[in-house]
Amino acid sequence: MRVNNVVCMFCGALCDDLELVVEGDRITEVRKGCAIGKKKFLHYQEPVLSPMVDGKVVDLEEAIQVAVDILSSSRYPLIYGLSSTTCEGQVAAVRLAKAIGANIDSTSSVCHGPSTIAKQIVGVSTATLGEVKNRADLVIFWGCNPAASHPRHFNRYSVLPKGQFIPGGREGRRVVVVDVRPTPTARIADTFLQVTPGGDYEALSTLRALLKKIPPDREEVAGIPLARWEELAEACKAARYGILFFGMGLTMSRGRYMNVVAALSLVRDLNAFTRFGAIAMRGHGNVTGSEQALAWTTGYPFAVNFSRGTPRYSPGEFTAVDLLARGEVDAVLVIASDPAAHFPAAAVRHLEQVPVIALDPHPTVTTSVAKVVIPCAVSGISAAGTAYRMDGVPLRAKKVISVAYPSDAEILASISEGVKQ
Ligand code: SF4
Repeated sequence: MRVNNVVCMFCGALCDDLELVVEGDRITEVRKGCAIGKKKFLHYQEPVLSPMVDGKVVDLEEAIQVAVDILSSSRYPLIYGLSSTTCEGQVAAVRLAKAIGANIDSTSSVCHGPSTIAKQIVGVSTATLGEVKNRADLVIFWGCNPAASHPRHFNRYSVLPKGQFIPGGREGRRVVVVDVRPTPTARIADTFLQVTPGGDYEALSTLRALLKKIPPDREEVAGIPLARWEELAEACKAARYGILFFGMGLTMSRGRYMNVVAALSLVRDLNAFTRFGAIAMRGHGNVTGSEQALAWTTGYPFAVNFSRGTPRYSPGEFTAVDLLARGEVDAVLVIASDPAAHFPAAAVRHLEQVPVIALDPHPTVTTSVAKVVIPCAVSGISAAGTAYRMDGVPLRAKKVISVAYPSDAEILASISEGVKQ
């Protein structure tokens, strides 16, 4: 069977043009995906995970019942992850969080959460990737490396494609990369500006000052001669349509959300001269959807607490790393994520001391430390659902294969039902 227009849910580019050949329960061929996407589809079953409690294989119902018991008796649980599952799974997780008075947080809090805080402070002038493809003649990548993290971004949206008003494709665009080190993305740039680490806020503020004709009182900013910033400011003003893609180089370096406040303010200021937008380079396939789903259902995008019955929002207080590092939570449900592999040591130490329930299709470091392991279908391959692309466009991911395990949305609904009973 041939399946066309398949959405790849691996990264935030959410390519929706993949073509698969399916034979029985195997995907035998993938066309159009990048190497990462192809590997995800071709090896979606490997390695296999079984339902487990305390390291012993059990049946799925028993694993779910143990999860229900843990969460029912927990006084201050945490539900974390969500970024590689569908919006249906995310909404089911919110329902469960509400039922048990849990904290709920997504991987957003360790990637672009600061961008979302910045958007709440200054707003965002943004665009769809379709607009970028068809209109952008100036493309800036700041603190991100899509050549490695989003391999088809250049081809499909930002650098190479011919667009309605960019008939020359690559020749019709100027590409600028700003980063603290030369990256594969910098190699394709027309202009590369290597800023000193921690210099982003200063550089962005300098560009804003130049737009307002306020001359900075120095000849060099963030390790770059002022004349080069002046040239970039003029190029931004002269563009017919500019776009700023920004990454974790801004959100996870000194200044964090204030770096993004400066970037979004720059983009807002540029709209006095031309059309300019900003898009965060979201990493996980549906991390954008996790913020959307939490915002529809709770009013807040991440770091939400239900312990008083109504949702409360407080990054730094109800974010997963902080709750774990302070040793506050007494049970953790991890959905489609691997915090044991990526969190700071203090947070992982607490994760090892409390009962962890891991809901995942594949073995991870977190499943290896979990008390309860519940395997589920793979979102976008063996479970259908909605995912949001990095520009906020929702796409419907297909189910192309049937597997023995239910989707995480169905498993979370079963846990919620068990908790209520
Ligand atoms: S760029 Fe991202 S969404 Fe597109 S095929 Fe590669 S991994 Fe999948």
